[in-house]
Amino acid sequence: MELKYEELLKRARANLPKKVSAIQERFEIPKASLLIQGTKTVISNFNQICEIFNRPQEHLLKYLQRELATPASIDGPRLVLGRKLLADNINSKLIQYASDFVICKVCKKPDTKLRKEGRITYMHCMACGAKNPIRAKI
Ligand SMILES: [Zn+2]
Repeated sequence: MELKYEELLKRARANLPKKVSAIQERFEIPKASLLIQGTKTVISNFNQICEIFNRPQEHLLKYLQRELATPASIDGPRLVLGRKLLADNINSKLIQYASDFVICKVCKKPDTKLRKEGRITYMHCMACGAKNPIRAKI
């Protein structure tokens, strides 16, 4: 009887949505969904990416604009970039952004906030309490 209960519990755990355990165990950096429109590149899931990073859209916009050397503008949930770009280009910038501005250097969790103190911006980690200055510039 007890064994059966254990077995049921195991099965119930195995059936938990994968997403929930993935967020707890390892932060997955979102990938951009791209549309090419004429000479422009549209990131159609830009708002979702910002939500996952928990950062304002303007912050990521400025970063991509600078890193990709192209003008960008927000269009509802989307971001419009001023030239044709490859998914690899953009996704590698998202990884860089996450490592510079989102993921805690100590515990590798994404539960962080940016706070400016004087001229320096710090990344405060809500999970482990670490506080690290941000070296990357936007
Ligand atoms: Zn941490």
